[in-house]
Amino acid sequence: MIKYKRILIKLSGESLADTNGYGFSSEMLMHYANEIKNAHEQGVEIAVVLGGGNIFRGIKSKNINIDKTDGDYMGMLATVINSKALQSVLKNVGVDAELVCALEIEGICRKTNHIVVEKILKQNKVCIIAGGTGNPFFTTDSAAALRAIEMKADILLKGTRVDAVYSADPEKVPNATPFETLTFDEVIDKELKIMDMTAFTLCRENNMPIVVFNIHKEGNIQKIITGEKCGTIIN
Ligand code: UDP
Repeated sequence: MIKYKRILIKLSGESLADTNGYGFSSEMLMHYANEIKNAHEQGVEIAVVLGGGNIFRGIKSKNINIDKTDGDYMGMLATVINSKALQSVLKNVGVDAELVCALEIEGICRKTNHIVVEKILKQNKVCIIAGGTGNPFFTTDSAAALRAIEMKADILLKGTRVDAVYSADPEKVPNATPFETLTFDEVIDKELKIMDMTAFTLCRENNMPIVVFNIHKEGNIQKIITGEKCGTIIN
């Protein structure tokens, strides 16, 4: 039984990087594509927002004498490169995906808005939404929250490299404990870091549930869409 019929999956760009921390790991791209394919084959309507961290983050701009605003646009363009890569690999595994973007890039993709996204989903295609929010000083987590709300997704899936939201950073604190569920208020009270504050507030104010899960483990998206226990649900 499918529990969530319309989902938005946010995947970080960083996880796509090769062993040098840059560019693409073909294994990871294929893994993302197969996880998406599996959910899509079960009739779930899927939009995907990818980060750009494997290519460029605005925060790096000051180190190389680039204005932060320009750096943020470079970061947004990085998400377009990642999105194009995912679209291509999805095609290679037999999934029809359309790329739309917050920035106008003629010849590459259509400009996104909720009507365009709706049409793409209704055509049984995966919709990859690139370019973040289209504005500097935001993140792709904020873009994911915004797009999930716009498309009336049942839930926002935030893929991470850890299994859940923990009481402390599990990569630093060995006895950190995972949460199965949390309310939005609990996240604030416990000062847990799920997403940046803008993204989190958007979800909170619009009652958009979030599931934080490990994207590196095969079958996790399948578990989530069927309502099996996986990661941490915030609602
Ligand atoms: N970015 C931006 N506006 C947005 C989304 C992203 O300016 O709406 C820029 C920002 O510089 C960010 C970069 O794009 O650092 C890449 O996105 P992000 O850091 O969220 O990628 P991830 O960490 O998920 O790979």
